[in-house]
Amino acid sequence: MSVPISQMATVATYLIRQKLRGEKRYPLVLMLEPLYRCNLQCAGCGKIQYPSHVLKRQLSVDDCLAAVDACPAPMVSIPGGEPLLHPEIQEIVAGIIARRKYLYLCTNAILLEEKLDLFEPTRYLSFSVHLDGLQEEHDRAVCRDGIYDVAVSAIRAARARGFRVTTNTTLFSDADPERTAQFFDTAMDLGVEGLMVSPGYPYEKAPDQENFLERNRTVDFFRRVLSRPGAKRWRFNQSPLFIEFLAGAHDYDCVPWSMPAYSVFGWQKPCYLLQEGYAESYDELLSETRWADYGPKSGNPKCADCMVHCGYEAAAVQDAFSSPGGLVRILRAMVTGPQVPVLVPEEIPAAMDPQPVSSDHPVETQPARGWSAAASPESLHVAFDYRGDATLTLDDGARLEGYVVNANVDEVSLWEKGDPRPLVIPVKRIAHVTLSGRDTAAPTA
Ligand code: SF4
Ligand code: SF4
Repeated sequence: MSVPISQMATVATYLIRQKLRGEKRYPLVLMLEPLYRCNLQCAGCGKIQYPSHVLKRQLSVDDCLAAVDACPAPMVSIPGGEPLLHPEIQEIVAGIIARRKYLYLCTNAILLEEKLDLFEPTRYLSFSVHLDGLQEEHDRAVCRDGIYDVAVSAIRAARARGFRVTTNTTLFSDADPERTAQFFDTAMDLGVEGLMVSPGYPYEKAPDQENFLERNRTVDFFRRVLSRPGAKRWRFNQSPLFIEFLAGAHDYDCVPWSMPAYSVFGWQKPCYLLQEGYAESYDELLSETRWADYGPKSGNPKCADCMVHCGYEAAAVQDAFSSPGGLVRILRAMVTGPQVPVLVPEEIPAAMDPQPVSSDHPVETQPARGWSAAASPESLHVAFDYRGDATLTLDDGARLEGYVVNANVDEVSLWEKGDPRPLVIPVKRIAHVTLSGRDTAAPTA
C-alpha cells in the first residue's frame, strides 16, 4: 500500500463530507510555498527567477499556519524553492502536524540528512525527495553533478530513521521510457513508500523552454513506461486513476482550485503553475478567480498541454467518489494497479527524440529591461509579468522602484527593496512604467 490507510480514510471522509454538503469547489492539497529561494538552479524550474530582495523574503510561521487554517484541505505540500532553507521550517512542520494535516515536505535533499534531527517520524510527515531519474538524468536536470548521490544517501538515512519518504519526479521530453522504468525500479529498491510523477509544465520563466512534453507525447510516454513487464511492482503515491489519466485512459478536465497555492505574494490565481494575480485571502481566491478561463477545455493555450498533477490529480480522486462507476474504477485500479490502454505498435513513435516545439501557439515576447510605456492596463500587466524590478512614475513625478507583486484594475502592489509589505498604489496615480531591474528569467549568455 503506497499511502497509509489512516491517510486514505481521512481523505475519503473529507471528500464524502464535501459531496454531502454539495460543495462545487473544494481543496484537496494546500501548496504552501514559504520561500522561493533554492540551493539549486534547475533548467526546468520556473519558481526561482526573482530579484534577490524577493528571494530573501519568506513567510513567517504564523503566516504559514494561518494559510493552513484558512484552507480546509486535509493535505499540505510544501514545494520549492527549497523549504529546508527556511530557518523556521521545524516550527512550520510541527504546526501543520499538530493540526493533523498530512504533510509532504518537498526537498532536493541537499540539506535533508543534516536536518533530519529537526523532525520526528510520524504518519503525518513525508519527505518528498526530488529525483528526476537515474544519476545521469537527475544530475543533468538539476544542472549539478553529484546531487543524485546526495539525494539517494538522504533517502536511505531518512528511511533508516523511520520517516515516510516518497520521490517526486518531473519528466521532460528527453526522458527515455527504458531508463525511466529502471529509475522506478531503483526508487522502489531504495525503500520509498511511493513514487510521485508528473510531466513538466512549460513555465514561461524556466530557462529550458524546449524539453516539455506535449499532451499526446505525455500519453505516449506513460503508455510506454507503464506497459513494461515490471510495472506492477511500482507503487505510486498518487491516485491510480491519475496515473491512468497520464496514459490516456481518462479524459479529466483540470480542477485548479483543488490545489491552491499560497506564497509570499498571497493566494496565487489560478493555480500553482500560472501566475495571473494574487488574492489576499483563500475565500477571495475561490470567489474572484474566473475558473472557466482555465483548463484545456476552456481553450486557454496556457493550459492546452498541461497534465500536471496539481490540476488533475484531484479530478482523478473526485472521479472515484462521484459515481458508482468511479468507485468501481478506483477499486479495480487499487487491486490490479493502473491499467494502461493497449499499445498499438505501429502508432508508437520509434523513439522519444525531442520534437520541434509546436508553432500553433503564438509565443508572447517579454519586453526587456529598459522598456518603458505610459501607464495602461497592458503596460501594468507587462510590469507584473516581468521577473525584475520596475519603476513606476506617479502623477506628481515621484518614482518608485520595486517588484510588481500584483496588478488589478484599480491597484498595483509594489514591493520596494527592504519594505516588509507591498505598497498599494491606485492605478489612476500611475503615469509611467519602466522595466528598470535585471530580468532574472532572461537567458544568460
Ligand atoms: S526545481 Fe526545485 S530544486 Fe530545482 S531549482 Fe526549482 S525549487 Fe530548486
Ligand atoms: S491546466 Fe494546468 S496550467 Fe491550466 S489551470 Fe490547470 S493546472 Fe493550471
